[in-house]
Amino acid sequence: MVDSQQSVPTEIALLILVLGVIIFIWDLLERRRESLQKGGGLDKSSELISLRGSDNLPPKEYFSKSLGLSSRPDALLKEDGAIIPVDHKPLSNKVRDRHVIAMLLHMKLIEEIEGIRPPYGILLMGKKRRSTRIKNTEEKMRWLDAVIDEMRSIADGIPAIPSPSAAKCRNCDVRKECDHSAV
Ligand code: SF4
Repeated sequence: MVDSQQSVPTEIALLILVLGVIIFIWDLLERRRESLQKGGGLDKSSELISLRGSDNLPPKEYFSKSLGLSSRPDALLKEDGAIIPVDHKPLSNKVRDRHVIAMLLHMKLIEEIEGIRPPYGILLMGKKRRSTRIKNTEEKMRWLDAVIDEMRSIADGIPAIPSPSAAKCRNCDVRKECDHSAV
């Protein structure tokens, strides 16, 4: 006859405890993922696959041997088989050329290494993470190629030609010492 007062074996109790902990951690990770997607104004169908500073979704660095360049997006999303790079610029509310160039480089290297062209990248601007899509167009890629060529020429010793603009120089910290300042 079975004793109804018999206690649950220790192994079973431990198993239930371990399962409980696993479910708790899984729930915590899912909540964090959802909050990141909502906070960044991202589509719910996007799957977060890499995130800088995360142990669970390690950041990814892309390196191109042919270009000798590397890029490290703040995060990566998977959408309809494509990999979408995401950069967060907490100190800037405005999208600057340098933000777009860095995003274009992410997309160029992702295409070279993963073999699939990202249709766009996402910039999250400022503390409120205003979302801006940077489309991956032929025209923008030609601009990136021209910038890379210019950088190479400067590295090879051809002097850089400054093209200052008053709007940029006005807010530049080194304008008083700069010989090319437009203000
Ligand atoms: S002040 Fe000089 S360094 Fe600053 S933005 Fe203008 S040209 Fe560039």
